[in-house]
Amino acid sequence: MPSTYTHHFDTPSYKASVTFDTGLFINGEFVQPVDKGTLDVVNPTTGKVICPVSIANAKDIDIAVKAARAAYKNSWGLKVPGETRGKMLNKFADLIEEHTAELAALESLNVGKPYAPTKMFDLAAAVKTLRYYAGWADKIQGKTVETTEDKFCYTRREPIGVVGQIIPWNGPLLLIAWKLGPALAAGNCVVLKPSELSPFTALRIAPLLKLAGFPPGVVNIVNGTGPQAGQALSEHPNVDKIAFTGSTLTGRKILEASAKSNLKQVTLELGGKSPTIIYDDADLEQAVKWAGHGIFFNMGQACCAGSRIFVQAGIYDEFMKRFSIVAKNLKAGDVFDPTTTHGPQVSKTQFDRVMGYIASGKQDSATVETGGSQIGTEGYFVEPTIFSDVKPEMKIAREEIFGPVAAVFKFTDEKAVIDLANDTTYGLACAVFTKDIKRAMTTAHGIEAGTSWVNMSNFPDNALPFGGYKQSGLGRDLGEYALEHYTQIKAVHFNLGIQL
Ligand code: NAD
Repeated sequence: MPSTYTHHFDTPSYKASVTFDTGLFINGEFVQPVDKGTLDVVNPTTGKVICPVSIANAKDIDIAVKAARAAYKNSWGLKVPGETRGKMLNKFADLIEEHTAELAALESLNVGKPYAPTKMFDLAAAVKTLRYYAGWADKIQGKTVETTEDKFCYTRREPIGVVGQIIPWNGPLLLIAWKLGPALAAGNCVVLKPSELSPFTALRIAPLLKLAGFPPGVVNIVNGTGPQAGQALSEHPNVDKIAFTGSTLTGRKILEASAKSNLKQVTLELGGKSPTIIYDDADLEQAVKWAGHGIFFNMGQACCAGSRIFVQAGIYDEFMKRFSIVAKNLKAGDVFDPTTTHGPQVSKTQFDRVMGYIASGKQDSATVETGGSQIGTEGYFVEPTIFSDVKPEMKIAREEIFGPVAAVFKFTDEKAVIDLANDTTYGLACAVFTKDIKRAMTTAHGIEAGTSWVNMSNFPDNALPFGGYKQSGLGRDLGEYALEHYTQIKAVHFNLGIQL
């Protein structure tokens, strides 16, 4: 198999040839997998194969872990001053920014995200996240702790060591930034496994890591499937932590693998069934727009998608009228056409899954207000779909669909809606719309979720923690909180006079 692939983009928004290596990036070089495994990457817009890419198995994971361990011992960790780690992260951010157009094109091709918003939001956000953590790299400190006159004591925040990072396909480059930023700022070495569905941008940034100055082995990028590469990384006895973003089902397997191997630390960012609650005093125009962004952004493939929408009775009819227009106005098509706002689902599997949920909603007698069908016959396009008359026990109300499908409920009283919204095994996020500050606060505090947005939705911030209550996760990404999960605390006691 050739070890590079060149894609010739000749689209309305981007015309250029982009080449990237399709091997495994280990110890600063691209190499072929030991057993020469490959997997075809499919274009979700057409359903056709783009190119084969190498995939790792347990042998390759072991080689990558050894490279990361050697780098941690010899050329990274606290041996490298925080200021230097920060400079490298800033340089890496600059390089990503310089390659924005190319990286956005690869991401759109690979996962079917419309090009314009990918460039404007995903790429810009990834750069900002890296810069945010570059700023932290020389500010991760312990403290002196006064105990008695006979002792001098302090704490150190040390890196965890070798970290495995396993990420999904819905925001590949942004999630790379969320994961690499805090890990590298804190001095860890990384073996990163992208989703086998979306390896392109991960592969393209590997040489940029080298140019930014990260020594060989500090970041290793090994594409591979979950059951092979992901499982091998989670079970590896020489990996100190796994940071995972993906489904709750896989999160459970990773915890089990940790328990059965070396009790490695685990942080999990998992799924959601997040509520959007719109009270009758809300700014309706804004609430409708944010609710649309909440569920239809990225074709509903967002962990914090506002997939259950609770609307107070007084504004319900008007909301539904306007919300249906938002869904109908989304324009599906070539993701490189600047007027396209709605792309395909990422894969045939995800397409079938989403269509299965739509069929189940229809079968359970929920009303399809708009959408409900496939768009065209090529690729994996699903119509933005709104269900009303949804009962809390229906599958479409309980399970994460991860597609452009909203379940809308009518409610009357405030106390009841908080209980209804909390009736889920998930707890990632919620969005509340009202002009009444007390009501906003009571609802934001009453919802069992790691993030409460008021008068906005689906909009994380680098400086704030992001993660789940209940079965939506363990630990937090982003903010200062993520750094806590990439460091461990050592207490150092000096005896200044205690005699035995
Ligand atoms: P997934 O769990 O199937 O896959 C995620 C990653 O885990 C992929 O890299 C995959 O190869 C790997 N994987 C699969 N099986 C594995 C195993 N046994 N051991 C180790 N790794 C394994 O999820 P997905 O379908 O790729 O992504 C969609 C899910 O991710 C949704 O449920 C969504 O809510 C969730 N998600 C959560 C967040 C968040 O921040 N909370 C963000 C994005 C996506």
